[in-house]
Amino acid sequence: MEIINKIRGLKSSTTTMRARKTIKEEDYCSECKNYFRKNLLDIEHEIPVSIGGNPYDFRFFCKSCHNKKTNIDIKIINFFKKTNLLIKHNSESFETPLTKEELIQTYKILFLLIKKGELYNEDK
Ligand SMILES: [Zn+2]
Repeated sequence: MEIINKIRGLKSSTTTMRARKTIKEEDYCSECKNYFRKNLLDIEHEIPVSIGGNPYDFRFFCKSCHNKKTNIDIKIINFFKKTNLLIKHNSESFETPLTKEELIQTYKILFLLIKKGELYNEDK
């Protein structure tokens, strides 16, 4: 069992503000590539910070793309908890029988499958 301490950061509003300064008044969403006003873009982490992703490794998503991404993330994190890949999960740390790299690889595979509609597809 590996104990993984989450990387802290982007928690304080000053850090978030500094991150937001890296975008222009109008900039594009990294997902749909459409342009939006700065206040309509959210900070988004490809690998969720809650599973050990780097909080400083971020990009900007529009609200719609961010919501879709978050909904998939919630499904994967719930799956990880249900299957004991995430144990004693709290804001500081978690335990996992995998290595951090294996957990992230598993996340990426599940993310692709859900996005393609191969998993959790209500129509099937
Ligand atoms: Zn978008």
